Amino acid sequence: MLEGQSAIVTGSTSGIGLAVARALAQQGVRVMLNGFGDAAAVEATRAGLAAEAGVEVGYSSADMSRPAEIAQMVAQTEQRFGSVDILVNNAGIQHVAPVDEFPDAKWEQILAINLSSNFYAIKAVLPGMKQRNRGRIVNIASAHGLVASPFKSAYVAAKHGVVGLTKAVALEVAETPITVNAICPGYVRTPLVDGQIRDQAKAHGMSEERVIREVILAAQPNKRFVELEQLGALVLFLCSDAGASITGAALPIEGGWTAR
Ligand code: NAD
Repeated sequence: MLEGQSAIVTGSTSGIGLAVARALAQQGVRVMLNGFGDAAAVEATRAGLAAEAGVEVGYSSADMSRPAEIAQMVAQTEQRFGSVDILVNNAGIQHVAPVDEFPDAKWEQILAINLSSNFYAIKAVLPGMKQRNRGRIVNIASAHGLVASPFKSAYVAAKHGVVGLTKAVALEVAETPITVNAICPGYVRTPLVDGQIRDQAKAHGMSEERVIREVILAAQPNKRFVELEQLGALVLFLCSDAGASITGAALPIEGGWTAR
């Protein structure tokens, strides 16, 4: 159903972004990967995905904290693929510290990568989507876009911002076929979360298994990580015709976290 369309997935050299890119490619969507990483490893990922899915897969090294590079990535993708029909804003980072000790530079960086990049990418893709009268924008927010946890002030502020941005843009384009939604995952086992598990284990002198059970999954009532494939499937649904009436939503996929 999505075959022949083109997508940009930001932060797709790893974790959730890569899983979403894979899900789209397997449906015949041309994908522009983006993110950091060792050049050879990124190229192996790009070539592997293209071969496995039998679609064109590109790569942009654009830094999502730099508005000019975001605009350039969108322009290059439109030129190469002919359109950007699907934008998945996924790139994100985390830093955990009490607010009165939170480094200013980390605050600025998290706001830039986790929130402002969504604004700049949306701004760049919308004119083409409006012109073609079709489009899907999916912003990977977080359960932390709906509720807070201590010591994650910048991340929680940015993700709440993503949910607000999603609603505002959805309303602006509501009379067109373009939809704009946020997905709010609970914990997913990716390098971003592995880093938190390691840090917490060190900070509390606990085993990683105990940190997973008692710290990381403490707020997640089903006590299971969200699977990468489940996120890919949700993005595909939102991009499908069946998802056409879902817009401006912040969809939790978090094992019951925000039901409390
Ligand atoms: P990850 O660390 O595995 O991947 C992050 C990706 O973003 C990588 O490809 C990285 O290279 C890229 N990236 C980082 N800074 C960038 C920049 N300046 N420019 C371009 N790319 C950049 O993390 P993940 O867990 O897959 O997280 C992906 C998204 O999902 C993030 O927005 C995160 O906040 C969100 N999320 C993750 C979880 C989780 O439990 N893992 C839960 C909820 C939301």
